[in-house]
Amino acid sequence: MNAKFGLNLPKYYSINFNLPKRSRKKIIFIILHYTGMKKESAAIKRLCDPKSKVSSHYFIKNSGEVLSLVPDLYEAWHAGVSSWQKLKSLNKYSIGIEINNPGHDNGYKEFSSKQIFSLTKLIKYLVKKYNIKKQNILGHSDISPDRKKDPGEKFPWKKLAKKKLCKWHNLDEKKIEKFRNFKIRDLEEKKFLRNLCDIGYPKIAGKNTKIKKINLTKAFQRRFRQKLINGKIDQECLLISKNLVKY
Ligand SMILES: [Zn+2]
Repeated sequence: MNAKFGLNLPKYYSINFNLPKRSRKKIIFIILHYTGMKKESAAIKRLCDPKSKVSSHYFIKNSGEVLSLVPDLYEAWHAGVSSWQKLKSLNKYSIGIEINNPGHDNGYKEFSSKQIFSLTKLIKYLVKKYNIKKQNILGHSDISPDRKKDPGEKFPWKKLAKKKLCKWHNLDEKKIEKFRNFKIRDLEEKKFLRNLCDIGYPKIAGKNTKIKKINLTKAFQRRFRQKLINGKIDQECLLISKNLVKY
């Protein structure tokens, strides 16, 4: 608190956001991230540092404590180059939540149960407040598959789906597991990629389509087939994608 000027600022806040204020109707997505840094304090510091040019609306500590860094009605800088369905630059339309976790490059960890408890509560609150659809609750890697892996395959999407807070398939996992690593034909591969577009994933276009296909498949696996992330399209992936298009 700055008593001299009568300001009552929170301990943590970030000025890394766009002006002017957006209308609340613009908020239609929630994007989940991990911080990807070894130390929690350093991650918070970075998101609050004007020089870093990154931020998020919320930050979830290991303890489950939730920090509000940017007010909902300002566009925080969390998603970068991104797309989903026909929309581009998802910062405009979303609330960003950073969950503390060292990430793939620094010894990726399970998210703590306290983090998931707080996150669930926060998402429920936001869903109600802004009328956000469950299919619009996404991971950073979903909307930026060529650049991002977060929140990654340790993130409990299925748990969230049980609470109706994200999209999930309704297949028997034991049954479809038998189709893991089963090869698919060219036509089936096309079908899989079309299904991903229908779900909302970015379309593969331009140069380096081979690597883009691998990245896209990995992003899909990190969400919906977390036990094997290999970037190869197999029969199990195809079955899941078909099911997701239907529901
Ligand atoms: Zn991210």
